[in-house]
Amino acid sequence: MILREDLPTYFLKPAELRFVRGPGVIRTVLGSCVTVTMFCRRLAASAACHPVLPACPEAGSCHVQNCSQRSKYVECVIPEMLRRFQDLGVQEDELEIKIFGGANMFFRSTSQKEILQVGSRNVDMAKEMIKELRLTLKSYDVGGNQGRKLYFDTETGDVWVKRFQANGASRDDLTVMQSQLSLQLKNHER
Ligand SMILES: [Zn+2]
Repeated sequence: MILREDLPTYFLKPAELRFVRGPGVIRTVLGSCVTVTMFCRRLAASAACHPVLPACPEAGSCHVQNCSQRSKYVECVIPEMLRRFQDLGVQEDELEIKIFGGANMFFRSTSQKEILQVGSRNVDMAKEMIKELRLTLKSYDVGGNQGRKLYFDTETGDVWVKRFQANGASRDDLTVMQSQLSLQLKNHER
């Protein structure tokens, strides 16, 4: 992988959405979250999101343009990305769309099935939204139980993925993350 160090680099945090025009690199780290990248070659316009959970808690009543936390949910952030490309005059068939992440990180825990499925549910929702919006998915690298580091070259549209074991996180970190996640799931379940 060739990463040019002279390019501006942006680190995409969870629940963030980023647009870049021209050369640059969007980096992120994914566990059960997904990143959807969209790239329009004609305008050298790129977008990447990092939603944490599949469905908006305001499901049904959510109007994406007003959704206060739209970049946190797969369901809300994908239409928002499309809308912003459309504002630039981009046609749907000009978009190169890719999905990454959605690992099932806590595979050792057998008691918390919900948590095991967050990654898969994020991926399923992303594919569903892309289909619903009549967009074409160019490629994806999803699932499994390893984390991913992503490098999105906003000049070429190429995305580089490096997988890693999540062993770097301590037991305590994992426990805290798990309890937060199960709380979120309870609050946001449809
Ligand atoms: Zn929403």
